[in-house]
Amino acid sequence: MTRAIRTERSLYDDDHELLRKTVRAFVDRHAAPHAERWRAEGKVDRALFREAARAGILGFNIPEEYGGGGVTDFRFNAVIGEEFSRHPASDGLAAVGLSNDIVVPYFTDLTDDGQKARWLPGIAAGELVVAVAMTEPGTGSDLAGIATTAVRDGDDYVVNGSKVFISNGQNADLVVTAVRTGPDRHGGISLLVVEADRPGFSRGRNLEKVGLHAQDTSELFYQDVRVPAANLLGAEGSGFKALMRNLPQERISIAANAVASIEGVLERTVEYVKERKAFGRTVGSFQNTRFQLADMVTTARAGRAYIDDLLARHSRGELSAVDAAAAKFWATEHYVDIVGRCFQLHGAYGYMLEYRIAHDYLDSRITTVYGGTTEIMKEIVARDLGL
Ligand SMILES: Cc1cc2nc3c(=O)[nH]c(=O)nc-3n(C[C@H](O)[C@H](O)[C@H](O)COP(=O)(O)OP(=O)(O)OC[C@H]3O[C@@H](n4cnc5c(N)ncnc54)[C@H](O)[C@@H]3O)c2cc1C
Repeated sequence: MTRAIRTERSLYDDDHELLRKTVRAFVDRHAAPHAERWRAEGKVDRALFREAARAGILGFNIPEEYGGGGVTDFRFNAVIGEEFSRHPASDGLAAVGLSNDIVVPYFTDLTDDGQKARWLPGIAAGELVVAVAMTEPGTGSDLAGIATTAVRDGDDYVVNGSKVFISNGQNADLVVTAVRTGPDRHGGISLLVVEADRPGFSRGRNLEKVGLHAQDTSELFYQDVRVPAANLLGAEGSGFKALMRNLPQERISIAANAVASIEGVLERTVEYVKERKAFGRTVGSFQNTRFQLADMVTTARAGRAYIDDLLARHSRGELSAVDAAAAKFWATEHYVDIVGRCFQLHGAYGYMLEYRIAHDYLDSRITTVYGGTTEIMKEIVARDLGL
């Protein structure tokens, strides 16, 4: 292990570190042997969700009375994200991480008792796979511009439209779908849980992507899908507010995973340049390599201090939307930059898929786009400055 890329941290206590051990054992046993097959098949096995639930690393945020672990401290989510990010099967494992960090909060925080009883036990057991579908072919950054409609008809809504780029799209059983229930740009948006076996709902292609090959990022189609009004999350018209409430956790999760990924990339690159020789010396002995790595490791350490502070704040319920937006663009932009520079230090070997840096190169690129693009994150920060 390379010395001192990771600094001493005060964020975690013994319970968090105990979970880290569990996660490490879990990924070695349940993810490592399948990573290549998952990439070839474009999705993870559904058994991953069940095994993760059994190990206590999926659905642990769900209240105990519904079969979860009753954990509300986000630092446990962060430990899992770190371990997943460092693992070679990170692209597949993200299916579990995004369920915990991004989708489950819609089910725990916005549901009434009846909905909780219907859905939470299945999610906590890893039997019901979840997804959140906001993005449409015609709109991504401009969330308020969605066109998928849900028209009230008796006790049902009738849903028509389509979604694209939806993570867990092929595996999902329950899709939190952003729909238009009225003409008002923001006040006309609602969230409806659509079960994947409803007539009229269909999955489109599992999209072929540049990276993240084990993730099933999909198109979803809704054609006259009748969904009971009892599947509405919160009040009709409250969807945009709910999305704005949940997106900061999605963004700090992406930022924290980016910093953990940076640490892993740097560790592997330091090892590589110590071994690789050119002109009779190690690549790591060239001044350019030494200065590049000194610079990047310092960025990683600054990022670690920055993100740990925000994680601590989030675990106390004090993270603002602006903080989350700033962290998201800062961490992911550095991630993409650092992966590119480390890739260069690997020479042609870095371009070979048998080297992890090649996967880092392919998988990192999207992080400045999904979960809100860098430009939209900067808009949020600038708006807060009164600009
Ligand atoms: C692997 C992957 C997984 C995803 N998972 C999900 C998911 O589970 N659920 C889901 O709903 N979505 C998901 N997405 C979609 C993702 O969140 C969107 O792609 C993203 O929000 C950007 O939307 P867009 O692609 O439509 O870009 P656009 O909105 O078309 O943006 C194009 C460009 O214009 C810029 N731009 C737009 N508006 C402004 C502005 N006001 N000022 C300056 N620049 C601007 C953007 O920053 C970007 O550079 C996923 C995408 C991918 C690739």
